[in-house]
Amino acid sequence: MEQTLASRLEGIRERMSAACLRAGRAPDSVRLLPVSKMHGPEEIEEAVRAGLDCFGESRVQEARQKIPLCSGGLHWHFVGHLQTNKVREAVSLFEVLHAVDSVRLLECVDRLCAEEGRVLPVFLEVNVSGERSKFGLKPEELGGVFEAAGRLHRVRIAGLMTVPPIAEDPEESRPFFRHLRQLRDEWSPRAGLPLAELSMGMSHDFDAAIEEGATWVRVGTLLFGERRRVEGHEPDAA
Ligand SMILES: *Cc1c(COP(=O)(O)O)cnc(C)c1O
Repeated sequence: MEQTLASRLEGIRERMSAACLRAGRAPDSVRLLPVSKMHGPEEIEEAVRAGLDCFGESRVQEARQKIPLCSGGLHWHFVGHLQTNKVREAVSLFEVLHAVDSVRLLECVDRLCAEEGRVLPVFLEVNVSGERSKFGLKPEELGGVFEAAGRLHRVRIAGLMTVPPIAEDPEESRPFFRHLRQLRDEWSPRAGLPLAELSMGMSHDFDAAIEEGATWVRVGTLLFGERRRVEGHEPDAA
């Protein structure tokens, strides 16, 4: 059952279309973000040959080394937890930040975007499950963040993002996806922002996420295969 990346991609695209159909959504309303963390430039180039041009990374240090070794003109999204001392570099490497989870980080991104002369779309990461081990804002903290964001001109809050607790059954993720969409529906008019983007769903649960309104699904393992474990590298820490 050796499969090529191109055939795995085709399988993912078919499932994405099927989920859109079930939900009565336009197939082009959901985009695939291939998460290439802990995969090398060769694998990314294989994905580029299969037609992909947008990739997600979760460590600034890894991305800094990898991006120059890949084709130019690719679009890089940061999906990890960002530390303030890495923001300057993140702002220069990435086009979208998927997991902004504090006013402090938002203000830091705004300041460094001003210095770099750019405007960055960001998604606010919300911890909808309340799991204590998780990053992300509590739902009740969103108001304060939108208020602060109203004073900032270099960051644009484009939507919300979440990572539900790890579960075997994708149906267990569904209530968290639904909750994220409800928070978006609630906050969009209050904040006066479209909040069009919902970044939710990974390899094991992206179908359910699409049915619940995802506009970006972040898929790593299912596309690239198992990640290599590199000594001293925590997969999800920046
Ligand atoms: C690694 C990662 C993914 C991809 O996970 P898979 O289960 O391999 O698809 C998605 N989102 C975030 C935030 C990640 O860190």
